[in-house]
Amino acid sequence: MNPFLELGIREEVVKAISEIGFEKPSEIQEKAIPVLLTGSDDFVGLAQTGTGKTAAFGLPLLEQLDFSQRHPQALILCPTRELCLQISKDLEKFAKYMDNVNVVAVYGGANISDQLRQIRRGVQIVVATPGRMLDIIGRNAIDFSSVNYVVLDEADEMLNMGFQEDINNILSETPDTKKTWLFSATMPKEVRRIAQKYMTDPVELTVGTKNTGNANIEHQYFLIKAKDKYAAFKRIVDSNPDIFGIVFCRTKIETQEIAEALIKDGYNADALHGDLSQQQRDKVMKRYRDRSLQMLIATDVAARGIDVNDVTHVINFSLPDEIENYTHRSGRTARAGKTGISISLINIKEQSKIRQLEKVIGKAFERKQVPQGEEVVARQLLTIIDKVNQVEVNDDQMNAFLPAIMEGFESLSKEEIVKRFASLEFNRFLDYYKNAPDLNIEARDISNTRERGERGERGERSERGSRMGSKGYTRLFMNLGAVDEFSRGDMLGFICNNSKISGKSIGKIDMKGVFTFFEVQDEEVNKVFEGFKGVDYNGRQVRIEVSGDGGGSGERSHSGGDRGSRGRSGGFGGERRDRGGFGGERKDRGGFGGERKDRGGFGGERKDRAGFGGERKSRSGDNGGFRDFSGKRSESKSKY
Ligand code: ADP
Ligand code: MG
Repeated sequence: MNPFLELGIREEVVKAISEIGFEKPSEIQEKAIPVLLTGSDDFVGLAQTGTGKTAAFGLPLLEQLDFSQRHPQALILCPTRELCLQISKDLEKFAKYMDNVNVVAVYGGANISDQLRQIRRGVQIVVATPGRMLDIIGRNAIDFSSVNYVVLDEADEMLNMGFQEDINNILSETPDTKKTWLFSATMPKEVRRIAQKYMTDPVELTVGTKNTGNANIEHQYFLIKAKDKYAAFKRIVDSNPDIFGIVFCRTKIETQEIAEALIKDGYNADALHGDLSQQQRDKVMKRYRDRSLQMLIATDVAARGIDVNDVTHVINFSLPDEIENYTHRSGRTARAGKTGISISLINIKEQSKIRQLEKVIGKAFERKQVPQGEEVVARQLLTIIDKVNQVEVNDDQMNAFLPAIMEGFESLSKEEIVKRFASLEFNRFLDYYKNAPDLNIEARDISNTRERGERGERGERSERGSRMGSKGYTRLFMNLGAVDEFSRGDMLGFICNNSKISGKSIGKIDMKGVFTFFEVQDEEVNKVFEGFKGVDYNGRQVRIEVSGDGGGSGERSHSGGDRGSRGRSGGFGGERRDRGGFGGERKDRGGFGGERKDRGGFGGERKDRAGFGGERKSRSGDNGGFRDFSGKRSESKSKY
């Protein structure tokens, strides 16, 4: 018998949740559902994100309410609009085979009259963020006098966001006889106080181990102008000569461009993204694991769940679109008890995202200064000294050459020799960092956010121009490269044969590991696009794009996010918020079947929110460049 049926969930609902892949209850569901089905107790459930709390309260609600009535009987309060939408969608999915179930999502930043209309039509379940809910209450547009159940989802988060008072006000509209179910990841004092104030003898349940979070990850950010991003990134890398890092970009094209630029600048880097065949990915990964690559430039999807030991840095070259991905990204470092650093390169406009991230990970970020040129140079110098001190000299082999070496340096003093050896390694940095400007954003820049940001982006584009095609040529990108066992000659032939153009029309061919840039005379470009339509290479669709036209924005129309991400889980943009994917997606999250393995990292990092609450307080006095955090209605802003 289906274990949900055994718990007392009705058949229509069991059918619906089976269809979305719930085979058996998660731990919180197994424990909470029987309690909540009695309908006679207040309830406190402490469980991490991703443990299935929505169904833990959602399924019992569907059993308890009278859906022949059309007035609000349950109110679910949650902190953000995303969550609000997610919960209401989840409930609708659970109720797919039930009749007359009406759920309304009430959240800021959306048209209020639509929401009011839905309420007027009659709903049993209201899912709301506090700000908008109060607004609607203030308009006398809702009657909460028959509410039997109030759910406070992510209560700690709501308090963090300053919703305490709003919650008080909303709850005072509901009858004293209602039952209150509170869900939270942690139980800080404030949450406990709410529990005491609004609940009578609640049944309290804690699921999962209390975890200190991945305290081993240090989260840092650098505030820079958009146009300086790559330069700042290089400085950070150069001042960490022993870096073994994963660099995250938002799109495939950005991943390719950064990898290309790094390779050109002499770094040990390569790209990993969804346009590669499994075989190619394996190759790149093998090189990274073997440490023949120092930096892996990757998209979220491609690097999801990657488990490589001793990654020193995760660098968010671009912040992820989906906030949750930050945790996945930073979890690539500090594995197995090691420490690690997660760095984000952000521009002024993105500062509020750091705030949001702090809330998600439950830890404060530290703003770091981009090292000045001299600092980088000094750092490199120390590394060289270190290396010289530590290098193993193979006397046997050296001895044979020693006389010749000594002779060659006869005329030089020790000092002179030292200088020259250091210069050998070093001139590249001295040249590059000569007159290097300060890349940090000054306070005065911050005052003019919008203008700065825009100017910055324009600057970036023109810099990109230098990487565009020669005059009369268009520079194209192709998703095949050296690892596909092409020589340059093969590539030339491959392009000409498919496009039916002569080799004379092709300019420079710039072959990289997993992709190629090539120039084609402007008038022949269309033939290339035509010629490669539907062409496969070893079962992989060949993709041609114009290179460099706005790569950084991530808004390009080319095949979108990483291959597979859309089909698999409804894309990582808005839709993905309901975590609709139950296929591959679930694996990473684990927790419901045997797949617990990867879970530690993910759940783990969210855990010490109590600490976060505390930290935040101590910061709020001096929240320097930060947006004031107490903004109560901030739910509407979190489109991120
Ligand atoms: P939380 O509210 O604890 O953060 P969610 O309710 O959002 O967690 O659930 C996390 C993910 O797990 C969602 O994708 C959800 O659909 C899925 N899920 C929940 N319960 C189960 C279950 N019993 N079996 C399989 N997947 C589940
Ligand atoms: Mg939840």
